[in-house]
Amino acid sequence: MSYTLPEFFAHALALEKEAAERYLELADMMEAHRNDEVSAVFRDMHRFSLLHHEDIRQRAQGIELPELRPGEFRWRTPPETGGEEAFDYTLRAYDALRYARENESRAMQYYRSVADETQDPELKRMATEFANEESGHLQALELWLARTPRPAAKWQDDPGPAQPPA
Ligand code: ZN
Repeated sequence: MSYTLPEFFAHALALEKEAAERYLELADMMEAHRNDEVSAVFRDMHRFSLLHHEDIRQRAQGIELPELRPGEFRWRTPPETGGEEAFDYTLRAYDALRYARENESRAMQYYRSVADETQDPELKRMATEFANEESGHLQALELWLARTPRPAAKWQDDPGPAQPPA
């Protein structure tokens, strides 16, 4: 499927807006868990998404944007939950980061596929630029994931208190 520039702008705006909202929720959730480090990561991501959204809005100025069908571009909810429970307050830092990584990865793939499929050089240039930006976010999340302890087990089959980090 190939996009026109207005369609691309409409999608990108929806994507960044939703990312900003989800990151704010994730940041608040991690703060409630007293995980200030990971909360700060999500606050940064929230800010990047807002900046990107504003940047796209300015580029799209004066262009009439099509309506998106509802749900045309959505963040995917964590696999173990659905809909309303997407932001289960028990979501752990590791899971929250993995969830964010999956969605950044989808955003990057979306921008890349637009860049690959379009015949419009301007759209190709912009989609490539956006894909590279998402790739940077993805790398930042990868780094955080690498330093975040992977939860060993769910609480119900947890053999006992967690071991202190080595
Ligand atoms: Zn991003």
